Amino acid sequence: MRLYDTLARKTKDLLPIDGQTFRFYCCGPTVYGPAHIGNFRTFVLQDVFRRTLETSGMRTLHVRNLTDVDDKTIRESQRAGQSLTEFTNFWTVKFHQDCDKLQCLPPHIEPGAVEHIPQQVMMIEELIAKGHAYSSEDGSVYFNIASFPEYGRLSHLDERELEIGRTQAQRANADEYEKQSVSDFVLWKARRDEDGKNFWPSPWGDGRPGWHLECSAMIREYLGESFDLHSGGVDLVFPHHENEIAQSRCACGGDFAASWFHIAHLMVDGGKMSKSLGNLYTLEDLAEKGWSAMEVRYVLLSGHYRKPLNFTFDSLHAAREAMLKMAKAAQQLSAKAPADAVLTSVEFGLFQGAWDTLNDDLNTAGALGAIFTGLREAVKCEGLAAAKALAAFHRLLRALGLVLPEAEKSVTVPEDIIALADQRLAVRQARDWAQSDVLRDQLAALGWIVKDSKDSYELSQK
Ligand code: AMP
Ligand code: ZN
Repeated sequence: MRLYDTLARKTKDLLPIDGQTFRFYCCGPTVYGPAHIGNFRTFVLQDVFRRTLETSGMRTLHVRNLTDVDDKTIRESQRAGQSLTEFTNFWTVKFHQDCDKLQCLPPHIEPGAVEHIPQQVMMIEELIAKGHAYSSEDGSVYFNIASFPEYGRLSHLDERELEIGRTQAQRANADEYEKQSVSDFVLWKARRDEDGKNFWPSPWGDGRPGWHLECSAMIREYLGESFDLHSGGVDLVFPHHENEIAQSRCACGGDFAASWFHIAHLMVDGGKMSKSLGNLYTLEDLAEKGWSAMEVRYVLLSGHYRKPLNFTFDSLHAAREAMLKMAKAAQQLSAKAPADAVLTSVEFGLFQGAWDTLNDDLNTAGALGAIFTGLREAVKCEGLAAAKALAAFHRLLRALGLVLPEAEKSVTVPEDIIALADQRLAVRQARDWAQSDVLRDQLAALGWIVKDSKDSYELSQK
């Protein structure tokens, strides 16, 4: 597979450093509420990335963390009147349920920040010993960005107009800070009253780790000093990933990530979908409106990951239609394929174009288009050729993580057809047989057969 690398600013071939297993890390969710479908754009694309590598026969090691301690989790757990663990466990379970619905494979390792506090403390000690960090009067510890000349390479700080705040007065103590200010960032936050019971001991006094540190510590634990790829949404490039690089390269040496994979945002009405803007949709919100998680997944795959994708309900309608079309084609193919066809081939055949497109910088949108091109030819196949085409089609669907609806069951009856059929039921109940026949003919002309029962009807397509 070829993929665009944010650091090198070019598309590169992806090969595992150790020649065997492609080892990658994804920044996971902050578990303080339901993840929204914007978050899931990132997680779904990371899932397709993994599935595509695995479909091509590569072994993977996928590590994704859970942020279960930071400013937000502490604040919200207190609002909910729960302990931090109780609160974050609840939202972790919910996150896993949503991932399952979206067919996202569970990562091989899913470490949490709280259970890795000793490793984080150790990393801070090393950074202080090597002259990259200093403690302040209140018992907090900061990373000194002036001590790391490479700081800013990932986000190309040198090409941006930024407010450089390198003095101690301007350093950042909050977990998330303004994109336009560059400053020393916090590694250990001294205990404050508002933290309640959420503090841990350290050589600098009670407190808790800064948010950026957890990923560096967990990456070291599970992937070592050098690994194949690191990923997250574009908002993480600066400061989060920049800070991770600084911490890890200074504490451990090593190259850290060989490639960086960043996913552009899901937008609503031209703005970023985010909790703080209150313009978000969760899977649950959409399920209430009648949309399935698979339809949401299809929408998330319908744009290239390097471009922002605008979420609309029209795109959900289009996803539903496209998946029904796919399901219908699959049904036609399976009716023509011999039941006893045993296929051992891993050729993509008519779907080679779709597979190549997917491997060319994870172009999911292009691959979906190419699947339809493949299907138009595939449905003309008979016998063994139909079986082969069906197998290749399914292989691609697995790489995309799409499960199709069953064609017959999922026929949705348009509202205007239901209105006509309801009207007909009413006239039948009024014993107006002539009008009932007129309406039956109208429905037939629109492609629908109506079967009467005593107080109801059944519609099927001609
Ligand atoms: P968080 O739970 O806020 O830590 O975010 C989890 C992941 O979702 C991170 O990789 C973010 O970069 C990503 N993310 C947040 N908002 C969006 C969005 N609107 N579109 C795509 N990814 C997002
Ligand atoms: Zn991270």
